[in-house]
Amino acid sequence: MPQTQTARLMDGAALARHVLDHTAAMSSAISHRTGKAPCLATVLVGEDPASATYVRMKRTRCETVGITSRHLPLPATTTTTELVDAITSLSEDPEVHGILLQHPVGGHIDERAAFEAIAPHKDVDGVTMRSFAAMSFGLPGFVSCTPGGILRLLDAYDVDLAGKRAVVVGRSAILGKPAGMLLLARDATVTYCHSRTRDLRSIIREADVLIAAAGRPHFIHGEDIKIGAVVVDAGYSPGNVGDVDFDTAKTRASLITPVPGGVGPMTIAMLLSQTAEAAALQMGLVPAELIPSQG
Ligand code: NAP
Repeated sequence: MPQTQTARLMDGAALARHVLDHTAAMSSAISHRTGKAPCLATVLVGEDPASATYVRMKRTRCETVGITSRHLPLPATTTTTELVDAITSLSEDPEVHGILLQHPVGGHIDERAAFEAIAPHKDVDGVTMRSFAAMSFGLPGFVSCTPGGILRLLDAYDVDLAGKRAVVVGRSAILGKPAGMLLLARDATVTYCHSRTRDLRSIIREADVLIAAAGRPHFIHGEDIKIGAVVVDAGYSPGNVGDVDFDTAKTRASLITPVPGGVGPMTIAMLLSQTAEAAALQMGLVPAELIPSQG
């Protein structure tokens, strides 16, 4: 068996454009049929510049695909009760179809309580326990956006997951855990690794499919990658740095995501796609019948 090869790139930016084109077509069909555009509510607690930038990017992208957005900025002093009340109001508002709570929220807030105030049919970011359960049981529901985007990428590049050894490095509620559940639902044999995992590198070396989601810049090197593995780098650290050392990993992987331009663009695309789908369902429309298939 050869000891090196050159990986094909998994182009998340191109796939995201495709998903966004489809989303724009769906939004347009919804507006045409009902006279109302899909609406995403964004909730931001405090003034963290990075969080504010993320929210701004998401709202700008909404405009480009015919989704309206309603922004709810809340002061850093907001209590859990106040945040839960604000999100509950959005959950009950028929003009709002999807809700995004930008996280992390301040340390004094019970983030889980705030997420759970999002009505499941408006949970377009896939953060509630109900959405996680649906992902785990393979039932209909909205997926967590980054893991959902990863699965879309794997599908777009015809990665057959059944029976494959998938290793997920990271176990956060929004990324690692749901990514593993979605892979398990596709019959992969999933191993989760985290900061307490012993002998991490030997586990990574067994991965046919590696999902790096630890947020540790370049901590996975080519020598740790099994020849021919599919490598998805969800990590993102300042300076556009992923968890995987791309230059060495690409000489051993068969497929690899770049950073930037891999998983990142898919996250926003999934959020907007799910917002349009939520709007269609809430307006009594069947998303799949609105426009030709996603291909
Ligand atoms: P997080 O909540 O901090 O979780 C990090 C996970 O990695 C934890 O489970 C942690 O283990 C594990 N970990 C940390 N250091 C490790 C090490 N040395 N070895 C093994 N496991 C280790 O982060 P997150 O929100 O899941 O995000 C992870 C990364 O993905 C970040 O770089 C973030 O910026 C990126 N991200 C990207 C997108 C995107 O759209 N591209 C979206 C979301 C997140 P413990 O559980 O034991 O602490």
